[in-house]
Amino acid sequence: MSGISLEGVTKQYPGGVLAVKGVDIDIESGEFVTLVGPSGCGKTTTLRTIAGFEMPTDGAVRIDEDEVTDAPPYERDTGMVFQDFALFPHMTIYENIAYGMEAAGEYTDEEIDARVEEMLELVELPGVADRTPDQLSGGQQQRIALARALAPRPKALLLDEPLASLDKKLREQMQVELRRIQQEIGITTVFVTHNQEEALTMSDRLAVMNDGKFEQVGPPEEVYNDPDSRFVADFLGTANIFDGTVTAVDDGYATVDCEGLTLRSKSRPGVEPGADVSVIVRPERFRFDSASADGGTSTATADVNVFEGEITFKRHLGSSVELRVETPDGRELVVVRRSGMDKRSPGDRVTVAVDAEECRIVEA
Ligand code: ATP
Repeated sequence: MSGISLEGVTKQYPGGVLAVKGVDIDIESGEFVTLVGPSGCGKTTTLRTIAGFEMPTDGAVRIDEDEVTDAPPYERDTGMVFQDFALFPHMTIYENIAYGMEAAGEYTDEEIDARVEEMLELVELPGVADRTPDQLSGGQQQRIALARALAPRPKALLLDEPLASLDKKLREQMQVELRRIQQEIGITTVFVTHNQEEALTMSDRLAVMNDGKFEQVGPPEEVYNDPDSRFVADFLGTANIFDGTVTAVDDGYATVDCEGLTLRSKSRPGVEPGADVSVIVRPERFRFDSASADGGTSTATADVNVFEGEITFKRHLGSSVELRVETPDGRELVVVRRSGMDKRSPGDRVTVAVDAEECRIVEA
C-alpha cells in the first residue's frame, strides 16, 4: 500500500481560471482523506490532478513515493469512482468488474474469475455477475462501481462525490459500507464531497477547501472543535459567531468586546489586544443554567459566559433538540441539547451559559 503527496499543486485552466492554488498534503498509506468545501472551491480539480486527468500547472504529485506529476492516468495505478457510477450499460456486471484487469492484459482468465468473485463478496453482492447494470438498484450499481475500481488492486482509491445521487437513507448506509470496505482492504482513499456531515463522519482527516486552498487539514474532531478560521467554523456544522475586538489576553484566555457584549474565550497564539476576532461557540457547548445572571444581557465571569434570553424556536433533530434563544440585544443563539428530550418551549425565559474553555477564537 502507498501514500499520496501533493506539494504546491497549482492548476490554472486554459482561459485563466486558477482552480487550485498551491496545495500541500501528505496522505499516509491506508488513510481516508476527504476534500470538502463549497461548490467551485477546487475539490474535483485537485482529485483529477491526483488521477492524472488534469496536469498541474505547478507543483508535484507523488503516489507511493514515485513522482507522477506528468504521468498519464493509466500509469498511476489509481481506481476512481464518480457520482454517476458510469457503469458500462451494455456489459454484464462480470464484464464491468473485469474491465480494468482485461485492459491491463496481465491476468489469466482464472485470475480474473477469482477476482471478480472476490470483489462481489467484498461489496456483498454475490450472484449478480450475469445481470446488466439496469437490473440493479442505484445503491447496488454504486457498489459495483466500487468493485470495478478496486478489482485491479490499485494503489489508491479516488472518489468524486460517489454518494451524491443516492437518497438520504441509502447514502448513510453506503457511507458505512464504503468505510467498512476501505478499512477491510486498507486502501489509501481520497474522497470528494461538499457534504460536511459526510466529511465529518467518514474521514481519518479532512482538508477543508476554500477558493483553491486548504484552509485547514486535520482529524474531524480537531477541525470541528478547533477551527482555524471563520470559514471553517461556519462551513462545518453550525457555529454561533460573535465578531469583536480583543481587549485583554491573560493565561491563554482572551476578553473580547463584541459590540456591548463581553465574552471570555480560550485564546490562540498571536492574538493580541486590539485584534479583530470572532468568538466561535458550537451549539452543543451551551448549557442551560438554573442560576440567573445578575441582570444585563451577559455577565462575563473569569471563566463562564452567561446569556439571558427567550426561546423563540424549537425543533427535534432525532437524537438531539435544537433551540433558538433570543437575547434582549437581539442576538440569536443556536443551542443544541444532545438528549432528544427537552421540556423547554418557545416563550420560556432561560439563562444560557458556556465556559470560556469551550469558546474558540479565530481571526475575523
Ligand atoms: P463542485 O463541488 O461544484 O463540483 P469543485 O470544488 O469540485 O466544485 P472544481 O470542479 O474543481 O470545483 O472547479 C474549480 C474551479 O475551476 C471552478 O471555478 C470551475 O468553474 C473551474 N473549472 C473546472 N473545470 C474547468 C475546466 N475544464 N476549464 C475551465 N475552468 C474549469
